Amino acid sequence: MESIAVVGASLAGLRSAETLRRDGFDGRLTVIGEEQRAPYDRPPLSKQILSGNWDPDRAPLATEDALEALDIEWRLGSRAVGLDLSDREVRLADESIVGFDGLIIATGARCRIIPGTEDLDGVYTLRTLDDCLAIRADFEATPRRVVVVGAGFIGAEVAATAKELGLEVTMVEMEPIPFERILGSEMGQVCADVQHDHGVDLRTGVGVASIEGGERVERVVLTDGTVLDADVVVVGVGVSPNTEWLEGSGLTVDNGVLCDASCLAGPNVVAAGDVARWPNHRFDEVMRVEHWDNAVEQGVHAARRLLTGQAEPYTPVPWFWSDQFDRKIQLAGRTRPGDQVEIVTGSIEERRFAAAYGREGKLVGILGFNRPRHVMQYRGLMNDGASWDDAMEFARK
Ligand SMILES: Cc1cc2nc3c(=O)[nH]c(=O)nc-3n(C[C@H](O)[C@H](O)[C@H](O)COP(=O)(O)OP(=O)(O)OC[C@H]3O[C@@H](n4cnc5c(N)ncnc54)[C@H](O)[C@@H]3O)c2cc1C
Repeated sequence: MESIAVVGASLAGLRSAETLRRDGFDGRLTVIGEEQRAPYDRPPLSKQILSGNWDPDRAPLATEDALEALDIEWRLGSRAVGLDLSDREVRLADESIVGFDGLIIATGARCRIIPGTEDLDGVYTLRTLDDCLAIRADFEATPRRVVVVGAGFIGAEVAATAKELGLEVTMVEMEPIPFERILGSEMGQVCADVQHDHGVDLRTGVGVASIEGGERVERVVLTDGTVLDADVVVVGVGVSPNTEWLEGSGLTVDNGVLCDASCLAGPNVVAAGDVARWPNHRFDEVMRVEHWDNAVEQGVHAARRLLTGQAEPYTPVPWFWSDQFDRKIQLAGRTRPGDQVEIVTGSIEERRFAAAYGREGKLVGILGFNRPRHVMQYRGLMNDGASWDDAMEFARK
């Protein structure tokens, strides 16, 4: 292979490009990214940078020297709009063409929006550094009332950060219990209680009927008729994978780019990160994972898949963390409502515990509140294919 193109200049794209060079690829390497900025990290956008504790200059994923050393042809500020697999070409929005022998798709995901709010000032989604800086500027203008729509992990982090800045925060969640569909009702309620404990006004089991105002947002109307006055609204209702540019390419797009178990999406085409969906044999599930660690690991795996041609399956135990107030919440594995749940250390009352999840005799997940060591230990057990009994035996030791 003489030339490789990476589309998506963020975490998965950069880690795959670094891997190609580290593993000896010395051909032409082009990285195409829609954002103008060099690759930067997203987790601080809802935490340290949003709160103002970190300057934005701490966001880059690599130093200028490190990027320089990769000898990459950067096409930043360029959106890929089409892919021709027979001619091996990516078409960009400015009509230019990037040819390739191998292709890495790492275009991630973008926030879903609430239609009709696009032109209303003070209504935000949070995916980019620019989004973060705009929200932060509005928070610093000391609005009185912040409404967060969606109590997922990003929404919950924004709510926590806003509350810690002394703002009045209401969070609206359609589900009766936040995170219930991932963690089950008991643990979902613990997440809700963390928000209650710190004074977030959490409204559950109710949707948003409309977001209204003149030029600027003034209120959020809920489906039960409640009117919430609002100066800033942050919408965190999930993401959609960025796959439009692949339409008609012949690749299978179905809630992400569908890959085989080794991350191969087509001939000499691999995908990684938030955009990729693949069968993870460890969990017997076709999954798309929106976590930082997966973007790193799958970026590495996909790059090696492309370079070596070896179809090694990618079988991670996915995990992520979320920082909310003084709690570090971590989840590893694939949990579902109905799983067996057992506290293996600590107590819910102290909000410091680890809960193991089991299904069909297997350990399938571990949830930690300020228990990073336990989460990693049990993740290790999952990596080793531990049964539920093994995990309970480990807990007793
Ligand atoms: C605010 C926030 C906080 C987070 N916090 C955590 C956390 O605490 N823990 C955790 O595990 N995970 C967290 N995540 C998730 C984590 O950041 C993502 O999983 C990770 O960024 C995925 O990396 P990626 O490279 O696959 O995709 P992305 O980071 O989405 O990058 C994709 C890139 O591709 C570009 N692109 C898209 N379409 C095109 C196109 N057609 N042409 C060219 N370029 C294109 C995009 O502009 C973008 O720069 C957080 C995410 C956000 C937004």
